[in-house]
Amino acid sequence: MRFLYLVQLQWLLQLGDIMAEAWEEAASITELYEAIKDCSRCPLGDTRTNLVLGAGDENAEIMFVGEAPGFHEDKQGIPFVGPAGQLLDQLLASIDLQRSQVYIANTLKCRPPENRDPQPQELETCTPFLFKQIAIIKPRIICTLGNHATRTLLSTSTGISQLHGKLIRKGELAYVPLFHPAAALHKPPLKSTLIDDFQRLREHLASERLRWEEEGEKGVELAVEPEVEPEQMGLF
Ligand code: SF4
Repeated sequence: MRFLYLVQLQWLLQLGDIMAEAWEEAASITELYEAIKDCSRCPLGDTRTNLVLGAGDENAEIMFVGEAPGFHEDKQGIPFVGPAGQLLDQLLASIDLQRSQVYIANTLKCRPPENRDPQPQELETCTPFLFKQIAIIKPRIICTLGNHATRTLLSTSTGISQLHGKLIRKGELAYVPLFHPAAALHKPPLKSTLIDDFQRLREHLASERLRWEEEGEKGVELAVEPEVEPEQMGLF
């Protein structure tokens, strides 16, 4: 009996290695989704309806990263489909972009119950999938939406109120932190700030295109795991 248990344990450990290799070696978003669609690395795997990996153009110049799927996203398996997603669509249209021309994802791929804040352990477990997405897509600019995504990807303690609208380089990547559209829905004055920041985003994209032309083709090296801060973070 003990021998059988040990054999089963060894098989499970080997299976874990195989799964890890599958997502690490994914060459496309589709392959990544297939590798992690049944993920249960953190407790959110038990409570989600659908894993929400992301949506949009896999060759997008701009990638948006929000916090985590909400109620509607969890039901449909698509990011930003609720009211915040509708506002994001309007903001994209204001700079002559459609959702199909960008890529949209979240730091967490599964909905936290009752839309609570992501827990540090959940972020630590899940963000390697986000970094793999970034490595596949190689966007010119990553827009972090709100404090969670900004602090997770930029490893900073500075809040979104100070960083929004600015182009920030970290390694080979360029980031533009923005207020989360959900925050603008709750605090209407933030909406005009968000509209202005999207105009700045248009200018940042133009300057990044020039820089990439001068420096050559896309090349993103992502060897560093994100540092996750233990503190709780709000949308602002
Ligand atoms: S949140 Fe991320 S780590 Fe947790 S179960 Fe979902 S995909 Fe896996």
